Amino acid sequence: MTKFSDLNLNPKVLKAIDEAGYETPTPIQAGAIPPALEGKDVLGIAQTGTGKTASFTLPMITLLARGRARARMPRSLVLCPTRELAAQVAENFDTYTKHLKLTKALLIGGVSFKEQDALIDKGVDVLIATPGRLLDHFERGKLLLTGVQVMVVDEADRMLDMGFIPDIERIFSLTPFTRQTLFFSATMAPEIERITNTFLSAPARIEVARQATASETIEQGVVMFKGSRRDREASEKRKVLRALIDAEGEKCTNAIIFCNRKTDVDICAKSLKKYGYNAAPIHGDLEQSQRMKTLDGFRDGSLRLLIASDVAARGLDVPSVSHVFNFDVPGHAEDYVHRIGRTGRAGREGKAITICTPRDEKALDAVEKLIQKEIPRLENPVKKPETKTSEDAPATSSDDRKPKPSGRKSDSGKKSSGSRAGSRSSSRSDRGSGNTVVGMGDHLPSFIALSFEERRAG
Ligand code: AMP
Repeated sequence: MTKFSDLNLNPKVLKAIDEAGYETPTPIQAGAIPPALEGKDVLGIAQTGTGKTASFTLPMITLLARGRARARMPRSLVLCPTRELAAQVAENFDTYTKHLKLTKALLIGGVSFKEQDALIDKGVDVLIATPGRLLDHFERGKLLLTGVQVMVVDEADRMLDMGFIPDIERIFSLTPFTRQTLFFSATMAPEIERITNTFLSAPARIEVARQATASETIEQGVVMFKGSRRDREASEKRKVLRALIDAEGEKCTNAIIFCNRKTDVDICAKSLKKYGYNAAPIHGDLEQSQRMKTLDGFRDGSLRLLIASDVAARGLDVPSVSHVFNFDVPGHAEDYVHRIGRTGRAGREGKAITICTPRDEKALDAVEKLIQKEIPRLENPVKKPETKTSEDAPATSSDDRKPKPSGRKSDSGKKSSGSRAGSRSSSRSDRGSGNTVVGMGDHLPSFIALSFEERRAG
């Protein structure tokens, strides 16, 4: 087995690794570090949790330790899709450079230009940035990328999802042709393949096993759900979510709830809080300080439920969670793999439950094709309305009208209504339980989808 000491890393870097408590390199580190140190381009196909951040930071630091920073011309550049990921990479740099004198600047939104400009003016060894913010600095004439010797693109598939590929291409064109490129992506979509063919030169390709294929400890289930009426669907779906959380009881120590849209992240978080759950949202439109505070709370256990979008959650180094709930089936099947990979880590048990509306059935098929298995159907834990009157009731869901008192953390699990989630429904055709859809068409403004209680709360 490869040891860190076999890898030709700077002795001061080795010391920092030892102090971080790492014993052996992970497969992506053992595969990527040697070619990176030889100056070769690297194409790493790996996702968060595999140790990929160290697989590019350790060789970069070793290479940078041999030279000096120059004013306004950073010697290396790491591009990350989100601020959180960039901040995490910066933390990694701090850990591994603690015995070396290397400087870095973090160019992300939410941090003042002035502070960042001052650092760049002095000269930095490493620039860690999100693409948009980097180009803002460049356009203000404060930055030259012609001194970049090593460029890293992290989470390239996420960059693609976020529409950053044109920015990445532009940034590539601003750096010297002779630079070394280390490029990481969890998947190789055709557009990513095109970029790597254009900008990487004979890269060493290292691929490590996907998380979900490795983890058999995640129990999965899907609840097929159809609203009783279109205008009630959103609030009824949130009721299903609450019932699913309750049905898990104390087994659900902490959970990430994924929504496809940022507006739903906000609405779900607000609704859960209203019902006394310990919940907070995280997505790209929130203030940086707010996002950091939420994440800290989730890490230290004071926050139980994190409601997240894929973009915000991707790449976050949060501890393993007991549960993942998919409020929506993700539009990209790969995201399902990333989402459920948040639970069942390191051999621990985990559970991932997805809510699927008729609109999401195609996406569910794509997920099942990708993971090559059928996700067991669970019974909807919310009882179907039995009386005729509910069908004639006003648009507000009767169930969303009475929020329960707070302090839910301790009594969760006792209020599960109807049959418990966990039992399989008898057939795949048992999809949804509602009546025919009437009403407002597909483009329901989100505030209308809120119950009156939630609207008042907003
Ligand atoms: P990453 O995939 O870069 O997000 O890393 C996931 C986690 O693994 C981080 O918390 C790292 O600190 C940790 N880690 C990285 N490399 C190693 C290693 N060789 N041994 C143990 N832990 C590691």
